[in-house]
Amino acid sequence: MQKVIGLTGGIGTGKSTVSELLAVHGFKIVDADIAAREAVEKGSEGLEQVRQVFGDEAIDENGEMNRKYVGEIVFNDDKMREKLNQIIHPIVRDLMERQKEAYLKEGFNVIMDIPLLFENNLQDTVDETWLVYASESIQVERLMERNDLTQEEAKARVYSQISIDKKRRMADRVIDNRGTLLELKQNLEALLMEEGYIQSSEEV
Ligand code: ATP
Repeated sequence: MQKVIGLTGGIGTGKSTVSELLAVHGFKIVDADIAAREAVEKGSEGLEQVRQVFGDEAIDENGEMNRKYVGEIVFNDDKMREKLNQIIHPIVRDLMERQKEAYLKEGFNVIMDIPLLFENNLQDTVDETWLVYASESIQVERLMERNDLTQEEAKARVYSQISIDKKRRMADRVIDNRGTLLELKQNLEALLMEEGYIQSSEEV
């Protein structure tokens, strides 16, 4: 019987990196960030709903969502943020659900890559949860480097989520990413072996 695993972490803990490694091991990845972009892609029903709520300026001259415009509104107005979520979330859920079902039908184990899995209480939508772990100070460091942020900006992003140590206690399995990329790969392979997904780390 195939499994549906919810992969999560904190911002910058290494979720995308782990997803890529899991894809190499034959898992199919359903990515919440990609679904969120698809939900309001050019010409979509979702984008039309955004236009109805946020006005014509919500769409730029190329027919795409004007993320800067919409982003500024929802950043300053919780009610509007809620309205945007009410449009996008059901579409995202539907897109992810359909993709998941298609992969299961084809016989694959599926990774649901969901950054805010615990924040949005989605534990029950998957068979188990795996958390990619790094300390808060490492999160801040990696974010500063990857997104070219100041320490203050990086900290603000990290502290806007449920703390990684709390998530660690909520997850079924923890993948330690406090070390090097090679160590991450070894930690992941150890987990895959324990769970019976691979026989030995030489497989790939
Ligand atoms: P987000 O939640 O922001 O999407 P994420 O959890 O998907 O982040 P990644 O993008 O995989 O995290 O990793 C964050 C950054 O840290 C990337 O630039 C990645 O290359 C780097 N990184 C990940 N793991 C390691 C590691 N073990 N050593 C050094 N750099 C790493």
